[in-house]
Amino acid sequence: MILETFPVGPLQCNCTILGDEQLREAIVIDPGDDVSRIHRRLTERGLTLKQILVTHAHIDHVGGALKLKRLTGAPIYMNENDLPLLEMMGAQAAWLGLSTPETAPPDSVLADGQTVGLQNYAARVLHTPGHTQGSICLHFAPLRLLIAGDTLFAGSIGRTDLPGGDFDQIIESIQSRLMALPDETNVIPGHGPATTIGEERRSNPFLIGV
Ligand SMILES: [Zn+2]
Repeated sequence: MILETFPVGPLQCNCTILGDEQLREAIVIDPGDDVSRIHRRLTERGLTLKQILVTHAHIDHVGGALKLKRLTGAPIYMNENDLPLLEMMGAQAAWLGLSTPETAPPDSVLADGQTVGLQNYAARVLHTPGHTQGSICLHFAPLRLLIAGDTLFAGSIGRTDLPGGDFDQIIESIQSRLMALPDETNVIPGHGPATTIGEERRSNPFLIGV
């Protein structure tokens, strides 16, 4: 298995490449920016991109998705509840003083409970609204791996003051969906260092005493 996570763009969104070394297939999660770098990594490793998965439609996570699709032909998957945010890309860019990336509606939706990913490395979609209404996490149970988007961070949680954000809802999503996972689950958040479900259960100040 190939698992590579690196920060992309000015907001340092964690982009992840998950690949199957035998079948030479890969998925990319959250290609927010630096698409030529992502594409170069795929090419260097001889991987064919099968899916582009977007945890939510904030510019720093989805900004490079269409460009990557054009380079590879891979379909874009996103939860439909974030379509309004996708349509606000100009406003999102203006908040951050960035130029507006070209976007297009997803080719496929990511619905709760759906299975996506690779034949040998499949993930279950967990719909975890709160940071945005269409935020999802990807749980690769056999790999003990959670890609958390901006729902859960090491020692923190996603902000809820942007359009579509809801503090009570993100806490409920984390408690009911993410804290239901085993302690040993490795978490790759949308920004910053990796953590585990057990570590966050013990020490995340947003989850203690809730
Ligand atoms: Zn976000």
